[in-house]
Amino acid sequence: MPHNDLNLMAKTLNAQYRGNAAIAILEGILRDTAPNKTALVSSFGAQSVVLLHMVSMVDRTLPILFIDTQMLFRETRNYQTALCASLGLENIRIVTPRNAMIAMHDPLNDLHQFDPDKYCDLRKSAPLEHALQGFGNWISGRKRFQGGHRTLIEHFEVDNLRLKINPLAHWGQQEIATYIEENRLPKHPLIAKGYASIGCAPCTSPISAGEDPRAGRWRNHAKTECGIHLPSPAPFAPSQTPQNREKASA
Ligand code: SF4
Repeated sequence: MPHNDLNLMAKTLNAQYRGNAAIAILEGILRDTAPNKTALVSSFGAQSVVLLHMVSMVDRTLPILFIDTQMLFRETRNYQTALCASLGLENIRIVTPRNAMIAMHDPLNDLHQFDPDKYCDLRKSAPLEHALQGFGNWISGRKRFQGGHRTLIEHFEVDNLRLKINPLAHWGQQEIATYIEENRLPKHPLIAKGYASIGCAPCTSPISAGEDPRAGRWRNHAKTECGIHLPSPAPFAPSQTPQNREKASA
């Protein structure tokens, strides 16, 4: 769809769904878009369980893209497997960077030390962009309270000729915590160790009481985002076909 048409669609949908509950946005968009054209992208991080739980109630077969940068915490991989099983999610697609690209650009797994942006492009942005081929819409768990580039996000945005849907855009930290408690959802095991926002191991550290929840990400760096939500295209895209490990995640 041309960019101008997508912008108009996003504007119309923002007006249509203003004030709607997150699950109503999910139900509406999945009802009104063509099958297999929408995917949820999840990091299986500290707050991912909220959207994953909603998806489990609306459509357990929705494609869920999990980018395994191969530098994640073991706890995140274990949590992903256990959570998908407990929620009955049936269409998990584990996306990894191409081995050849890792061998060429990060053979010692130390690229993050001297070129974090290139590391994130190589291991996350490029694989995601390739995995999103064929999808016209993708759902993200970003929230305004997370700050930075996220401060002004709407429920619907245009991103690289796709519609990006942020059902939790207006949720606050307390709503997230309450939803998890009321629905008795399992928490990422690293939360108990002081991690409030969880990505790859090299960019993630625990926070102290009173710190911003994302303060532990790229601590002491200006960098705040992987790049998948920023407008510039990833130099390594397209990369590879996502690996569908449905058996492993069932
Ligand atoms: S910003 Fe962190 S979580 Fe995102 S790809 Fe880069 S290292 Fe991984």
